Amino acid sequence: MIPALMPTYNRADLAFERGEGARLWTADGRRFLDFGAGIATSSLGHAHPHLVRAIAEQAARVIHVSNLYRIPEAERLAQRLVETSFADSVFFCNSGAEANEGMIKAVRKYHAEQGHPERFVTLCFEGAFHGRTLAMLSATGNEKYLAGFGPPVQGFRHVPFGNMNAVRDAIDETTAAILIEPVQGEGGVRPASLDFLRALRATCDEFGLLLALDEVQTGMGRSGRLWAHQWAGIEPDVMSAAKGIGGGFPLGAILAKEKVAQYLKPGTHGSTFGGNPLACAAGNAVLDVILAPGFLERVDRVARHLWRGLEDLARRHPAVIEGVQGAGLLLGLRLRPEVTNTALQDAALAEGLLTVAAGMNVLRLAPPLVIAEAEADEALALLDRACLRVAPGAAQAAAAQ
Ligand SMILES: *Cc1c(COP(=O)(O)O)cnc(C)c1O
Repeated sequence: MIPALMPTYNRADLAFERGEGARLWTADGRRFLDFGAGIATSSLGHAHPHLVRAIAEQAARVIHVSNLYRIPEAERLAQRLVETSFADSVFFCNSGAEANEGMIKAVRKYHAEQGHPERFVTLCFEGAFHGRTLAMLSATGNEKYLAGFGPPVQGFRHVPFGNMNAVRDAIDETTAAILIEPVQGEGGVRPASLDFLRALRATCDEFGLLLALDEVQTGMGRSGRLWAHQWAGIEPDVMSAAKGIGGGFPLGAILAKEKVAQYLKPGTHGSTFGGNPLACAAGNAVLDVILAPGFLERVDRVARHLWRGLEDLARRHPAVIEGVQGAGLLLGLRLRPEVTNTALQDAALAEGLLTVAAGMNVLRLAPPLVIAEAEADEALALLDRACLRVAPGAAQAAAAQ
């Protein structure tokens, strides 16, 4: 018989009762080091006192009022995001897919208002992930995700990741925007080169296209800068954010330049829950921590420490690990074809370390941004043991002893 909770996921048989920082405990007292952070989302770790207090205090005042009224917490959060980004204006919603949907609506509306409704096609990249709604399945473009869900939503076209000639060849009179993740997360923790991002910016300017960034996974400090595109020294026209911005509380956002945002007038877009007082209290609390002096420098320092440790791990386990890739605290171990990422994920779990699989046989590490170097070292030691478990021939070697 079907479980009451719809069987949409392949869940590990583990349930956590409480957490603290990068630690999680099951009800029966088993302890785990969390280097998945709920898929790069629990940015402040678990039970962060400042976030807990902000949510509890806001919940006791007012949780939800709807966008029929002003919401001071949302106005404050938007103001702070504007002050710390390229954007002039922010729209709040509840998830990454929803932010991307709104972002694509904003892109299409912009061109329609310029008198070019025929410009509605967004160029996307092979290996992308933009979410699970009908339109975002088409933006993602993965045949496996699209199968069985009827005709794809029109207006998305895919080109190889990192290939500037293919981008330029794909541009025609229907092209509206280029949509890219600065680091492809689900697709395999694959970073776009900074030169590629700069070239995309230049090409958008040349052809009058909008540059739309999906920073749902890379944003809010994960890369060691507040927004990953800042490493390239470019500015998008519009950007989506979600995952880490609420520290685990559901919150999404569209950040936009005025030239795009001006057309999202009453009646064009909306959300019942979006930007409610509780979600925005969480968002403001996360920003308090991430914008504190020295916080992002520390993320960058710990990330480089972890990266060096992973390079070292790869050198010691050449039969398991091919290489290390990613940015900041969004790192991937590219594995040899003989070892599946799920096998290494299971071995790490058996050692007490939580990780997340990604595409192209990559094992993803996305710890809370608050980890210390000692926790990175602990994760490296657990990964070392996990590699020994899955190394080709490990089973035979153990049996021969
Ligand atoms: C997770 C993710 C999404 C989808 O976010 P949801 O909150 O699951 O809808 C979209 N884009 C990127 C880059 C993501 O990592």
